Amino acid sequence: MTPCGDDASADDAPILDAIAKWLARDVEPHAMRMEHADEYPHQMVEQMKALGLFGATVSTEWGGLGLSASTYAKIVTMISESWMSLTGVFNSHLMLAKCIEKFGTVDQKKKYLPKLVTGELRGGTALTEPDAGTDLQGIRTKAEKRGEHYIVNGSKIWITNGLEGTIFALLVKTNTAADPPRKGMSMLIAEKGPGFTVSRKLEKLGYHGIDSTELIFEDYKVPAANLIGAEEGKGFYHAVGGLELGRINVAARGVGIANRALTESIKYSQQRKTFGKPIAQHQAIQLKLAEMATKCEAARLLVESAAKAYDAGQRCDMEAGMAKYYATEAAVDNSLEAMRIHGGYGYSKEFVVERLYRDAPLLVIGEGTNEMQRIIIARQLVERNPI
Ligand SMILES: Cc1cc2nc3c(=O)[nH]c(=O)nc-3n(C[C@H](O)[C@H](O)[C@H](O)COP(=O)(O)OP(=O)(O)OC[C@H]3O[C@@H](n4cnc5c(N)ncnc54)[C@H](O)[C@@H]3O)c2cc1C
Repeated sequence: MTPCGDDASADDAPILDAIAKWLARDVEPHAMRMEHADEYPHQMVEQMKALGLFGATVSTEWGGLGLSASTYAKIVTMISESWMSLTGVFNSHLMLAKCIEKFGTVDQKKKYLPKLVTGELRGGTALTEPDAGTDLQGIRTKAEKRGEHYIVNGSKIWITNGLEGTIFALLVKTNTAADPPRKGMSMLIAEKGPGFTVSRKLEKLGYHGIDSTELIFEDYKVPAANLIGAEEGKGFYHAVGGLELGRINVAARGVGIANRALTESIKYSQQRKTFGKPIAQHQAIQLKLAEMATKCEAARLLVESAAKAYDAGQRCDMEAGMAKYYATEAAVDNSLEAMRIHGGYGYSKEFVVERLYRDAPLLVIGEGTNEMQRIIIARQLVERNPI
């Protein structure tokens, strides 16, 4: 589907081929109807389990596919070209799995990873609160140790997979007096149970199908053994420790949306005629197509470069930030340009471009807003180039 871009490497080819066939056969024919109906993709979730996507980035030692960030980013891009919401079902789940794999105790890994990679257990990450998103140190959810348990009270908002998932990496404060506050933050593996309620499913502009929820915790008991890494005060680091891969993933979604907007525009501009010729032959449309294609290619290369640095074990917060910032802005720009190219039809629910236009803005907010990405990039520029 991608109008410009790379070919799969020999290593990637089998999985990318399997994903492409699945998208053409089982996703494309249903995505538009289901998205408009805000219908949860139960059947597609089962198919994603069979494809191994719930263990995509988990190492083979635990039964995962052990994919590189580079291959994973290509998969996320391809799926986002068809229906971005599907990537949310396994992205935040994989962030939970990564948190356990990277920071958990051996017992936590043994208990949870084999079930997470198959999708038998599904979930996500619960960081954001009604009064704290970017400023995570401002969270108020508290976990108090009583004997062999933590008693959790508080709430979380915007939590992906909150209804359909049953297990979450839950960021809490275990010491509210800590200074700086991040030193009093911890991460718990929270399985649904008494005191853990999904209070509502949130209505959204786009990103339909997938559940975004508010969670309430009232005297909710978590076994002390579920403290990630068995050490209090590390939760903030566990939360930010997954951000580089998280940003590469959101950037890859941006490439997918930007690509699809371009593909649809190239096709439509050759079909639609005005003043006796296809609109693709009008210079005003040609300028748009050229801009869109250049943005797609630049975004893809930034994602590839950040993913390669991540796979090589290099520090890549600046690279991931650049990819996230540029690719998601490209998604917003291209989706609007695609709508303009489609004229009135771009505003119609019969064409996919109106969905791209509704899905794209989420990408500039999630996984660190694009305002924050530019601040991170600038700080890194100075830190890496001292005078
Ligand atoms: C559909 C959806 C799904 C989500 N899924 C999850 C999930 O699964 N788990 C989860 O934990 N969270 C999730 N989130 C939450 C998301 O991560 C937050 O919305 C995001 O981090 C921004 O936080 P906020 O909404 O509180 O905005 P705020 O932090 O209040 O920011 C408001 C504005 O102020 C700007 N701003 C803030 N601080 C600064 C600063 N220092 N300098 C300059 N500008 C600043 C921001 O860039 C933004 O423009 C999801 C959100 C959405 C919409």
